[in-house]
Amino acid sequence: MDLQLKDKVVIVTGGAKGIGEAISKTLAKEGSWVIIAGRNEADNKKAVKEIEAGGGKAYSIAVELSVTENCKKVIDETIHQFGRIDGLVNNAGVNDGVGLEKGDPERFMESLQKNLIHYYCLAHYALPELKKSKGAIVNIGSKVSVTGQGNTSGYAASKGGINALTREWAVELLPYSIRVNTVLPAEVWTPLYEHWINSLPNPAEKLASIVSRIPLEKRFTTSEEIANTTVFLLSPCSSHTTGQILYVDGGYVHLDRAIS
Ligand code: NAP
Repeated sequence: MDLQLKDKVVIVTGGAKGIGEAISKTLAKEGSWVIIAGRNEADNKKAVKEIEAGGGKAYSIAVELSVTENCKKVIDETIHQFGRIDGLVNNAGVNDGVGLEKGDPERFMESLQKNLIHYYCLAHYALPELKKSKGAIVNIGSKVSVTGQGNTSGYAASKGGINALTREWAVELLPYSIRVNTVLPAEVWTPLYEHWINSLPNPAEKLASIVSRIPLEKRFTTSEEIANTTVFLLSPCSSHTTGQILYVDGGYVHLDRAIS
């Protein structure tokens, strides 16, 4: 199948590591220009080099996305360099453990800045270009939005907000033929995940217990599996799919984990 993404300009936030890195590399294989917007310039440049070594095209924008005005800079620089935007992948985020009891209002609001506000700001500032290109937006969500996790109110509120905004934006953007979808992972082995599991008292035991409850093949979802669905949703090949929340999770959320 030709995904028709050659020479399209797609912004991937947090596109240098983990799930974002896999999305960047999958897009590059399809011939897209990948704009990696992430805060660590060295990580961005390493990913750009690897993409170029594989014959792909990528560009780094080093940016801390929790600062609202930086989101406008990402869009302005992309337009300045490439003259168009065909896709936006809102991916950067962190499960930062700001709980109800153990958190506080200020840290809760900071968590929204890290996980939710930049999704809105980037979509808002990219909109004039997406209208011209009839582009697509894909958000990366989390199972926490529907299952809860405990002690992570800011992240859960953000991911719940992302699910709601997926429907809301899909409706608002119908007149422009801009499609908006969310890919919702559950357990994907990435630097973020490794950091989280190692912060727990008994990481190896916790890991074994998590894996044993993933219904399909008792294994983590790979970043590439998240990337493949994301890239398909960016592609004109999914031209009548909008407002959807796709669970790429080996059945984790919807199948009965007690009997599978
Ligand atoms: P990751 O391994 O930490 O990679 C995220 C990348 O985004 C890193 O390069 C990170 O930079 C960057 N980033 C994060 N916040 C940023 C900010 N405010 N400004 C600029 N760059 C920022 O994370 P991941 O596991 O791939 O997660 C990607 C997405 O998937 C997140 O939205 C996460 O909630 C979601 N998700 C992941 C899982 C999972 O199992 N891994 C499950 C459900 C949902 P640094 O390296 O400097 O932090």
